[in-house]
Amino acid sequence: MATDKTPPAHAPMSQFPVESGELVVGGLPLTRLAARVGTTPFYAYDRSLLSRRVAELRAILPPAVKLHYAMKANPMPALVAHMVRLVDGIDVASGGELKGALDAGADPREISFAGPGKRENELVQAVAAGIVVNVESFREIRLLAAISQRLGLPARVAVRVNPDFELKASGMKMGGGPKQFGIDAEAVPQALAEIGRNGLAFEGFHLFAGSQNLKAAAIVEAQQKSYELALRLAGDAPAPVRFLNLGGGFGIPYFPGEGRLDLAPIGANLAALVERAQTELPQAELVIELGRYLVGEAGVYVTRVLDRKVSRGQVFLVCDGGLNHHLSASGNFGQVIRKNYPVAIGNKMDATEKEIASVVGPLCTPLDLLADRMELARAEPGDLVVIFQSGAYGASASPQAFLGHPPVTEILV
Ligand SMILES: *Cc1c(COP(=O)(O)O)cnc(C)c1O
Repeated sequence: MATDKTPPAHAPMSQFPVESGELVVGGLPLTRLAARVGTTPFYAYDRSLLSRRVAELRAILPPAVKLHYAMKANPMPALVAHMVRLVDGIDVASGGELKGALDAGADPREISFAGPGKRENELVQAVAAGIVVNVESFREIRLLAAISQRLGLPARVAVRVNPDFELKASGMKMGGGPKQFGIDAEAVPQALAEIGRNGLAFEGFHLFAGSQNLKAAAIVEAQQKSYELALRLAGDAPAPVRFLNLGGGFGIPYFPGEGRLDLAPIGANLAALVERAQTELPQAELVIELGRYLVGEAGVYVTRVLDRKVSRGQVFLVCDGGLNHHLSASGNFGQVIRKNYPVAIGNKMDATEKEIASVVGPLCTPLDLLADRMELARAEPGDLVVIFQSGAYGASASPQAFLGHPPVTEILV
C-alpha cells in the first residue's frame, strides 16, 4: 500500500486577509503599511485581532473566570494599553514591567508580580503600588515583612507554588520537580505560617506549570491538579483564598504539523472548577494568565529582501532584519530542533511562480536563518518577507544590539 509521504504543512494563517495579492494588516495592504511605517524591518500588531481573540476566549470561558495578560509576551506600551482595556488584570515579572502596566492604566489591585529573584527595590515598588506579589521564596516573605513595617502598608501576597506534578506536553516546563520558580508544595504550609506571623495580606495561590501547550487534555489535567493542590494548601492559609491563579500555558501553532488548541474542554473544565469553588473556596476568584495565546497570532514581523543570492543551486533571500529582531523565528529561543515559522512573501500572496528559498538576515552568523528551504513565491530585492505568529516573544526577546544593526520598529495598527 502506498503511504502518504506529503510532509506536514503549517496550519493555515487565515487571520489576515489578502487583497490584490497583498497581505492586509490592520486594514492596510502590506506595501502601504510599510510606507506608512517608513522603514523596514518592523513588527505590526493588529488591534482588531487582539480584541477578537479576547472576545473568542471569553465566549468559551465561564464568565466567573478572570483573564489576565502576562505582559512578558509583548510589553510594547501601546499594545499593553490596548490589552488593559480588554482583560481583567496584568501579570508582570519585573519592576520595569510593573511600571509599564501602571503607565498603561492597569488597576494596581489587578496586577500581580511573579518571577524568581525579585530585587528588594522591586518589592518596595510592588508594596507601594498596592499590587499582589506572588512570593517565590522565604527570602521574599522576610523582605516583604520588613517593607510592610517600613511603609506601614501590609504587602498583598499570593504564594507561587511549585507543584508536585508537571504540565505534560509543554513547550517549556515551569513547574514540577526541582525548579527555581515558586515554593515547593511541601514547604508551602511553612510559608503560609510565616505570612500569617508577619501580618501580610494573604490573597491566594499562583500555579504556573508551563508554556506553549497545544494539548487541551494536558491543560485540563494541570488545572484540575492545580485546583486540588490549592484546595489542600488552603487549609493552612492564614486567611481565606481570594484568588486562585491556575496559570495558562495555552499554545499557538508555529510549526508544520501543529494544530490549534481546542478550547472547549478547557472551558468546560473551568466551569466545573468554578462550580466546586463556590462551596470549597467560596471567596476565591479563579484566574488564568495568558501571554502568547492572546497576542501571538495578532502580530507579524516584516523584513525587506536586500539581496537574492544563489549559492550552489540554493536560493538565499538576504533581508534587512533577522535573528537580531526575531530570535525565536531563527530557532534560537529555546527550541531543541530548528523548525520554520510560517513565512510568506507578503506582497506576492497570489503569486503562481514559486521556488524553494531560504530567508536569512544580515548578521554575519549562520544562526541568522528565518526560513530554511521553504516553498515561497519567487522574490526579488524590495519584496517584503512576512513571518507570522510573531506577536509574542519577538522584539523584546531578541538580542537587538548583536552586530550593531538598527533596532526594530513596532507598531499597533
Ligand atoms: C511566561 C509566563 C506566562 C506567559 O506564558 P505564555 O506561554 O506566553 O502564555 C504566564 N505566567 C508566568 C508566571 C510566566 O512566567
